[in-house]
Amino acid sequence: MTPTLMTIGGRPAAALDGATFAVENPATGETIAHVPSAGAADVDAAVGAAQRAFEGEWRSWSAARRGRALVRLADLVREHAEELAQLESRNVGKPISGARWEIGAAASVFAYYGGAADKHHGATIPVEKPGLDLTLREPIGVVGLIVPWNFPLMMASWKLGPALAAGNTAILKPASWSPLTALRIGELALEAGIPAGVLNVITGPGATVGAALAAHPGVGKIAFTGETGTGQEILRAAAGTIKKVTLELGGKSPNVVFADADLEKFARESPYAVFDNAGQDCCARSRILVERSVHERVVELFTAATRAMVVGDPADERTEMGCLVSRRHRDRVAGYIAAGRAEGARLVSGGEIPTGPAWDAGAYLTPAIFDGARPGMRIVEEEIFGPVVAVIPFDDEDEAVRLANASPYGLSGSVWSRDIGRALRVAKGIRSGVISVNCNSSVHTGAPFGGMKQSGLGRELGMDALDLYTETKNIYIDLG
Ligand code: NAD
Repeated sequence: MTPTLMTIGGRPAAALDGATFAVENPATGETIAHVPSAGAADVDAAVGAAQRAFEGEWRSWSAARRGRALVRLADLVREHAEELAQLESRNVGKPISGARWEIGAAASVFAYYGGAADKHHGATIPVEKPGLDLTLREPIGVVGLIVPWNFPLMMASWKLGPALAAGNTAILKPASWSPLTALRIGELALEAGIPAGVLNVITGPGATVGAALAAHPGVGKIAFTGETGTGQEILRAAAGTIKKVTLELGGKSPNVVFADADLEKFARESPYAVFDNAGQDCCARSRILVERSVHERVVELFTAATRAMVVGDPADERTEMGCLVSRRHRDRVAGYIAAGRAEGARLVSGGEIPTGPAWDAGAYLTPAIFDGARPGMRIVEEEIFGPVVAVIPFDDEDEAVRLANASPYGLSGSVWSRDIGRALRVAKGIRSGVISVNCNSSVHTGAPFGGMKQSGLGRELGMDALDLYTETKNIYIDLG
């Protein structure tokens, strides 16, 4: 069953003017749904519904009760896991195996915040006066949650989990390329017993619906994941009413490998660190910085491991890399491959648009490895958001850190070395919000995730996220 209506105030809703847009399967080019193309009037309706729900029954729910509802939502996501995974895979071209993993991860996030709801609390504070000083953690009110297309339901869960656990009401706005699982989660939230109007889901163009949410005086916070440029627009729009803002933005993360590392492990695991989800991952380690003495060996091992990845039909159980989210995006990425060549980097492997009956209708591109890349090249400086990696050699630890930090982004990255002192020095030296040592694992439900520099503002996941969905109120009681 493909969902085709929004959820506003607990009811299925078309756009007020009846407009719709087509949703495609990027692996086949087929239209798989028509969904509402909402406008500013629909945003007003959703904000109104969320405001009424915030003042309604939801307000009287204990934190534990909100938590139990989120655990029921987690259970429902698990019960519908196959349906949701198929929707996600068909909607954005990701391999079905990866889509299943993501749906499971989204359920775990709901369950985590279900458990966390009544464990996030204020403090009593010893002050100079003899009275009692205490803090309360209060919900902000209506929050706008704007998410991208690369991990649609998973990114939504990172925001919805803490937003609802903390007692806010929400308007979820998925990306136009990937609205289907968001529409379904609006329905499942009602089935989980979450009151009408607490979660509203609205679809439509970012420049209209997203911008209207970011500027709306009835919205107290915007949590956004997407491009850095869009994040800047949201900050500007949110300034009008001094909204709280959390931003998870772009990345150009380094994968730093020293000569003393376990090079086989690096090569076995690192293709997934950049080519998983066809490179459409904000954490993609899209720059490999390698110590010069092992440069050739690392390129050889990494290339062999990449060539062993199964690229193909997202619906096939064996596929490890599917297609990109659209042909338009694929062509944009192919433009970077042309730019890399023109700027003098050496294309060692991939970077081709495969042709033939199995490929022609889909947004396919084979994983591209560039060697001989240098700072200043576009493939080194810019977030490509596709299956392209640039290999850059370095001579010593200082140069590795300097190259790693030579980016306006600071989201993620990895360091590989058997010298734990060096690995930790480099991990501390890299200006990024998340870093992993001797692996590429950056996302853990219970641990804070987010970016430094132009990669973002605030953190998601873990208990840290709850701080950012609450206001702290201080109360002083005179005991005299
Ligand atoms: P995008 O910025 O184009 O769109 C993201 C969302 O914002 C969509 O829902 C879109 O409709 C909406 N939007 C667009 N214009 C808007 C506006 N003017 N006002 C309000 N909303 C607007 O990003 P994308 O192409 O969907 O996603 C890819 C980007 O997301 C990459 O840069 C990637 O690095 C980033 N990303 C970051 C993280 C992270 O956690 N840091 C995670 C995933 C993706």
